[in-house]
Amino acid sequence: MSQTLKAVRGTRDLLPPETELWNRIEATARRVFARYNFGEIRTPLFEDTGLFARGVGEETDIVSKEMYTWEDRARAQSEKPQSLTLRPENTAGVVRAYIEHKLGETGQLQKLYYIGPQFRRERPQKGRYRQFFQIGAEVIGPQSAGSESPLRDAEVLEMLATLLDELGIVGWTLELNSVGSSADRARYNDILRSALAALAPKMCQDCQRRAVTNPLRVLDCKVPEDQPIIETLPKIADSLDEESKTHFAQVCAALDAAGVVYKLNPRLVRGLDYYTRTTFEFTHGGLGAQNALLGGGRYDGLSESIGGPKAPGIGFAMGEDRLVLTLQAQEADPKAASPLFADAFVAPMANAKDAEKLKTINAAALALARELRRAGLRIELGEGSFRLKKSFEAADKCARRIVILGEDELASGVLTVKTFATGEQAKVSRAELATFLASPAGV
Ligand code: ATP
Ligand code: MG
Repeated sequence: MSQTLKAVRGTRDLLPPETELWNRIEATARRVFARYNFGEIRTPLFEDTGLFARGVGEETDIVSKEMYTWEDRARAQSEKPQSLTLRPENTAGVVRAYIEHKLGETGQLQKLYYIGPQFRRERPQKGRYRQFFQIGAEVIGPQSAGSESPLRDAEVLEMLATLLDELGIVGWTLELNSVGSSADRARYNDILRSALAALAPKMCQDCQRRAVTNPLRVLDCKVPEDQPIIETLPKIADSLDEESKTHFAQVCAALDAAGVVYKLNPRLVRGLDYYTRTTFEFTHGGLGAQNALLGGGRYDGLSESIGGPKAPGIGFAMGEDRLVLTLQAQEADPKAASPLFADAFVAPMANAKDAEKLKTINAAALALARELRRAGLRIELGEGSFRLKKSFEAADKCARRIVILGEDELASGVLTVKTFATGEQAKVSRAELATFLASPAGV
């Protein structure tokens, strides 16, 4: 016998009824995004590897060790094979599309959201998968459209607070920091490099490398033993120039005015290289080690770093898998955990041995189910050769009511309906059936 095949490590199947919760999250996100006048963008699941190398950064964990990359065979002898990568995140793809479609030339801010799978070769564990889903958004545009304004940052953060509240996530924390301009970061990197010269040898392998190549990344280290050392390092807030300080103060003032509560976290630098100024994470205590629900920030230099025009922007990506885990743990949505129930089970009844009658009744049952489904009802359709007992058993497992359609019912146009929760049996005319089935079916 051949070995049974299973979903690849780090990937998973999402099944009903859990997918109901996923759909509800996505519907809520779409509704909230629409209120803030965002439109949806869908970019390809794979891109040229160079996009991520330049747009996310060679030194990041994502690019240095987490990408699924392959050489795509050349079509012609003269062509070189192309290196392609499954997208590990969606911001680089959105900015690539912004440049490719010259969206900056509209002179307007582009407000784009996406929902879809991302791929990273990470060690799978709770809240961390190799294929996971992100819901994200970007606000990007020419400076003349106000894309650099701190009001954009505050508006995005206020939208996120609203979205998490509407999703029913209780107890989230907004952690906020500014990593300044690229000049600020260069200055801070030098300060960190000197400070780390003596400290790095006591830290993890990754930090020893980062201390030389990109000291800022040291702050992003997750190794517990390194945390006390990281605590002693100089803070980036002290390296910000006046413009960056003023920008950040305006973000904070707007959040205060809107009543969005946040916590300043001077160590928050995020995993991606392209962030400038405002950086943030929304965390949740219930998630354990993987406590970030979402992360994001401003990326004023990203477009230029992948060959586009100057296009400041700000965005975020939420881990949809982690939203689901949080909501399940809260049991905020107990209904999502119960099996799906149809409004009714249409049970055709015919003598299985009489092929002609079976054909007629099954056909009539499909017509009736079509009528009821078109009226907006959730209908399960049985099979005419089932015995009455078998139809009842099947119906009881998946529907609130059963509708019997036998020869008599077909002739008279009056159907027998049983409501399981109350045990009540009723005769209902075909004209009134849809209304009857839409009425409450007891507890
Ligand atoms: P982490 O520190 O948890 O690795 P990150 O900094 O790599 O996160 P981002 O690249 O900013 O994460 O992605 C934004 C969000 O996407 C995260 O806050 C998280 O909710 C989610 N996310 C990231 N990687 C995974 C993964 N492998 N599985 C599930 N969700 C993920
Ligand atoms: Mg990560």
